[in-house]
Amino acid sequence: MLCVDPQFRKNPAVPDAVVVEAPAKLNLYLRILGKRADGFHELESVMTTIGLYDTLRFTANDSGSLELECHDAGRPVGGAGSPPESPPNGPTNLIWRAAQLLRDATGCAAGAKIELWKRIPIAAGLAGGSSDAAATLFGLNRLWKLNASSQLLHDLASQLGSDIPFFLCGATTALCQGRGEIITPLSLPAGLSVVVARPATGLSTAEVFRHCRPEPGTGGGQQLAAALSTGRLQAAAGHMHNTLQEAAFRLNADVLQLRDAFSQLPFVGHLMSGSGTSYFGLCHNRNEAARLAGRLRALGVGAVFVAQTRP
Ligand code: ATP
Repeated sequence: MLCVDPQFRKNPAVPDAVVVEAPAKLNLYLRILGKRADGFHELESVMTTIGLYDTLRFTANDSGSLELECHDAGRPVGGAGSPPESPPNGPTNLIWRAAQLLRDATGCAAGAKIELWKRIPIAAGLAGGSSDAAATLFGLNRLWKLNASSQLLHDLASQLGSDIPFFLCGATTALCQGRGEIITPLSLPAGLSVVVARPATGLSTAEVFRHCRPEPGTGGGQQLAAALSTGRLQAAAGHMHNTLQEAAFRLNADVLQLRDAFSQLPFVGHLMSGSGTSYFGLCHNRNEAARLAGRLRALGVGAVFVAQTRP
């Protein structure tokens, strides 16, 4: 779910801007069920957003053209272990593609200046690009006063990418099925604490999918959600699963090293997010998360940060 920054109307420098916070996500569960005739994978996933955001600002542009400026707003921890990360600046950026698709679908000829402040690590399984694309559909619909329906925004989001509709669903956690576009909002206890680690290297989502072995069988995501919603953290951890992990371990030794590091520490449960390379551990509370994050940093496994799931 996206948040509109409530302060944006109070900024006298850009009074008509729309500012949107685009959160990162984690997959608490991801099972790839099989490959479909249309080339997409059938999946079951539990996605939840965490308190790490890119910020996007949309301002009207009288020339009728699109303009995109990407700024590095700093990584959550930065320093050693953080890979050089910058998204593409032009038409291949998902933000640009989302803006163009919205214009084409609505016949809108208006222009916009779009500024991105990037904090979510790239190619990390945290869906930063997908969240930015959803924020763009949402933000430009407001800026241009298009009144596009939720259904149209959902359809455009699905055309752009399988993870994108989730960010428009209005919930912070959801069970996602089909190729990701069939979304059932879930209610989880607020503010679960997690430790996220990202090694110095990334992985291409397409490459990981090419190497994964599908696992037919559904229901695990619902079991995990049921355990979490009743506060049974340990039971939920027993259901945490990611089909893509084995492929990522084979493709990237850094992810395997992360798995080994997390295994040595008393996390309630731990898993790779999405197609990697981020790896995360579930904790009982913030203090425990801060303590375990310190121990991971001492092992030098990459950039490590503590986050909470969003209420
Ligand atoms: P997912 O979890 O959805 O598979 P990811 O977190 O692994 O995604 P992203 O950070 O979304 O990966 O980026 C994947 C690719 O998309 C990168 O190669 C990047 O160059 C490209 N990209 C296009 N637009 C963006 C954007 N706005 N932010 C980040 N990456 C983008």
